[in-house]
Amino acid sequence: INILAIESSCDDTSAAVLQNDRVLANVIANQKVHAEYGGVVPELASRAHQQNIVPVIETALKRSGIDKSNLDGIAFTKGPGLLGSLLVGTSFAKSLSLGLKIPLIGVNHMQAHVLAHFIDDEEQKKPPFPFICLTISGGHTQILNVKGHFDFEILGETIDDAVGETFDKAAKIMGLPYPGGPFIDKLAAAGNPDRFSFPQPKTQNELDFSFSGLKTSVLYFLQKNQKENQNFIEENKEDICASLQKTIIDILMAKLKHASKVTGIEHIAIAGGVSANSGIRQALKNAEKDLGWTTYIPKFEYTTDNAAMIGIVGYFKYLDQNFSDQKIKAKARLSVEKE
Ligand code: ATP
Ligand code: FE
Repeated sequence: INILAIESSCDDTSAAVLQNDRVLANVIANQKVHAEYGGVVPELASRAHQQNIVPVIETALKRSGIDKSNLDGIAFTKGPGLLGSLLVGTSFAKSLSLGLKIPLIGVNHMQAHVLAHFIDDEEQKKPPFPFICLTISGGHTQILNVKGHFDFEILGETIDDAVGETFDKAAKIMGLPYPGGPFIDKLAAAGNPDRFSFPQPKTQNELDFSFSGLKTSVLYFLQKNQKENQNFIEENKEDICASLQKTIIDILMAKLKHASKVTGIEHIAIAGGVSANSGIRQALKNAEKDLGWTTYIPKFEYTTDNAAMIGIVGYFKYLDQNFSDQKIKAKARLSVEKE
């Protein structure tokens, strides 16, 4: 089964070609236009998708060695995400499906982040059901009980900011480029994680998250110290990043431990853009020895947005003959629990 997959939910235009559960090509065009604004500008994002989508798909097809006439289905992200961005991928997928007379397959982006674990790759082991997945991305932070390919239960989620957002906002305050997550990760590697301490928030439901307080306390902490020493951030950026990253990882690991305790599940996965973070990847690896968990860490290129993860979901839906019709609409909001 050859599936062409398209991802356009935010600011990356991506196309992938999968043969069954193997990725033959996965092309991602990052949109540089947003960097100078310090965040994603929706109008610019959809315009850039329109410019990128044809060359990105052509490149993916060329690299895969699969001819258009040999495709069996078109998978695309139907939501959640920025509506204008989603519409570009949705309309393109619909016309391609009509033109090539092959099935159209709408994919939930949050399910795709999780199901990226099922891409066939020697470097990646596949989790058995049920497993716990901590999805940490730019817009979401959730702990899921994954009972089947399309059977997700949200055990807890953020009541305010997402983890990725917290990394990006802290980075912005520090004057780092957008998106700041990878920069904090890099600086943190050279810093002392115990130098500064930041508060760990409490939430009513023990499996929910709250990050807005942490963001505010970082802001006040930096403002106060900058007032006393104008070069405070510059002189201490490694330690600030290491301390902040450690705080975030401690919060995430505490929640995961609790989720494992209440469910009795010891197969633990992470997914989403922030699962690229080297600190969280290491913490999860350590938990194998320390807690006896079996952990699942996605291959680096399947952490942040990519079409390969859309393609693997497309493949599973193809096997179920679970196709979409031409009336399908892109949805800005869509729960991981709903298909
Ligand atoms: P969603 O999937 O919730 O709709 P999104 O698609 O915008 O959001 P992703 O592409 O999954 O998000 O992840 C992007 C986020 O991951 C950004 O906030 C980015 O800073 C963060 N990120 C990427 N790499 C790292 C890293 N090494 N350390 C920390 N954060 C990172
Ligand atoms: Fe995403």
